[in-house]
Amino acid sequence: MRKPTFSLCVYCGSRPGTDLRYTQAAQETGTWIGEHGGQLIYGGGRGGLMGIVAEAALAAGARVIGVIPRALVEKEWAHTDCTELHIVDTMHDRKRMMAERADAFVALPGGIGTFEELFEVWTWRQLAYHDKPVGLLNTAQYYDGLLTFLRTAVEAQFLADWQLGLIQNGRTPATLLPALIQAAGLPCANRLEHT
Ligand code: AMP
Repeated sequence: MRKPTFSLCVYCGSRPGTDLRYTQAAQETGTWIGEHGGQLIYGGGRGGLMGIVAEAALAAGARVIGVIPRALVEKEWAHTDCTELHIVDTMHDRKRMMAERADAFVALPGGIGTFEELFEVWTWRQLAYHDKPVGLLNTAQYYDGLLTFLRTAVEAQFLADWQLGLIQNGRTPATLLPALIQAAGLPCANRLEHT
């Protein structure tokens, strides 16, 4: 297996959601990572969109690094087919390892865990704890309400424009993911070169 040219950390639902476009976006994300010579960093579960991203990445030839707290191994159905599965002591250890190993982050549709992870890496970015791109995949307009609220926060001057601008939005993996990898200053092999 070739050395990956980038490591993309994907945050997403441990459930699949109701709209088939969510699962399609997860599938496309995993496939895109594999087809462009990347490595997936994720929470290590088999459930929901998390499992779909991992399966698709593995099927497309990507290395898949799963990081899961010991207490969630059964609950989130740890994915033992990962290239590397790290079972760590705490949620903080999980997040630290995922953040350290990633070159960029992207949140797909998800629930409270996904929101928390997105907001954490976004706040770390605005504090300059890291300088890695942070993306939000707005599949089927799932995040329209959140984006509207964040603009309300800018209007109310609780959030600065530049802070909101630290999140790169996109509607499809094919447009957002290359932009994130480019913003990280890394190459992504084109499909033909890699295969
Ligand atoms: P969810 O989006 O709620 O389905 O969760 C997606 C992933 O986020 C799961 O692997 C959760 O374990 C993880 N997660 C990370 N931080 C948290 C948190 N503070 N609360 C709940 N889930 C979390």
